[in-house]
Formats: sequence, structure tokens, C-alpha cells
Amino acid sequence: MEVELRLLVAGFCIVAPSLLFVGFVRLLDGMREGDFVERVLDRLDENVDETGTTLDPTLFLRTAQEKSRQRMVPCADCGAPNVAGSARCGLCGMKLQS
Ligand SMILES: [Zn+2]
Repeated sequence: MEVELRLLVAGFCIVAPSLLFVGFVRLLDGMREGDFVERVLDRLDENVDETGTTLDPTLFLRTAQEKSRQRMVPCADCGAPNVAGSARCGLCGMKLQS
């Protein structure tokens, strides 16, 4: 009688975690298709510009380009872009007027 009980407990200890895991995965899977997630995703789409949670790569590149252009000064002689504030052109060595 005691052996049967031990076997039962051992079997439960082996099977229970697996069942719990499968149940947990099923639960998460069900939540993914839930209304709440759908609503949150809709909100995120609406507030893209305000929160900045979703980054548009083209917008990011454009702003980065503008920023880099602001800090660069073209050389009067050869036209090579130079960092604003530098004394001479990095390509031809001409003095930069700033
Ligand atoms: Zn130059």
C-alpha cells in the first residue's frame, strides 16, 4: 500500500511540472490573441510620433543627415565637408572661414 502511494507521488512529481508548463504556454498563447493586446498595439500605432516607441528608419536617417549637415562646413576651395570650427580643410589644407 505504501509503495503504491510513493509511486503515485513520484508520478505526480514527474507529470505535474510538464502539465503546468503546457498549460502556461497555452495560456500565453491565448492571451496573445486577446482583446487587450490588440488594444495596446492599436494605441502604440496611434502614438508613434509622441512616444517614439516605434522608430521609423527613414525618419531617423533623415534627421541624422540633417544633424551631420549642420555640423559640417564645405571647403571653399575643394568643397570637401569639414567639421565646423576646424581651422583648415582636412582634404586640401585651405583655411576655412567660420
Ligand atoms: Zn578643401
